[in-house]
Amino acid sequence: MVHLRLKDIKEYAIKNRVPIMQEDGIEFLINYIKENNIKRVLEIGSAIGYSAINIASQSEDIKVTTIEKDPNMYNIALNNIKNTGMQDRIKIIFEDALFVDIEEKYDLIFIDAAKSQYIKFFEKFSKNIDKGGVIVTDNLSFHGLVEDDSKTNNRNTKQLVKKIRKYIDFLKNNKDYDTTFYKIGDGISVSIKK
Ligand code: SAH
Ligand code: MG
Repeated sequence: MVHLRLKDIKEYAIKNRVPIMQEDGIEFLINYIKENNIKRVLEIGSAIGYSAINIASQSEDIKVTTIEKDPNMYNIALNNIKNTGMQDRIKIIFEDALFVDIEEKYDLIFIDAAKSQYIKFFEKFSKNIDKGGVIVTDNLSFHGLVEDDSKTNNRNTKQLVKKIRKYIDFLKNNKDYDTTFYKIGDGISVSIKK
């Protein structure tokens, strides 16, 4: 039942150009969650709830808190969460994540929102995981532009590429975390807190 819904949500996303996680990316994330027995997830950037619902549908014990600032996306996500009957396990917060203050601890934080703010998200929510906890980030390849930005002349895109490279350096130099980069989906990093 949830799988049928997920298929519909994905179709909607593709039709409406909602940038949900790529298939192999979500598969990687879900495997990581299962293998590491992760139960408490915080997601920055819900869009229409596709990844949150996907994660929560892996086990009845998984709880997801997800943050979305766009009213349109938020409303669709809320609706999708209710339709899958997961409102008890997926809590969606309608707010700019940079203004959200959460005290709770999580096993995994998934950063999948504005690429220009990745360092800020990482620093802000680092307090919400303990040693051994993990921060996963999506879109570090940005359609391959991070590796080779000669494919674009757009100034804003180039600016974003710069910010992502800066974030990658930030992760590499961050002594509180061990980060591994994966060429999966649109580029994923896994940063484990030491
Ligand atoms: N995780 C989703 C896709 C998220 S797309 C999935 O794979 O299904 C990125 C989303 O982040 C967009 O909906 C955008 O509105 C939201 N976003 C961007 N900046 C944000 C911020 N500062 N706070 C909360 N949400 C943000
Ligand atoms: Mg993404």
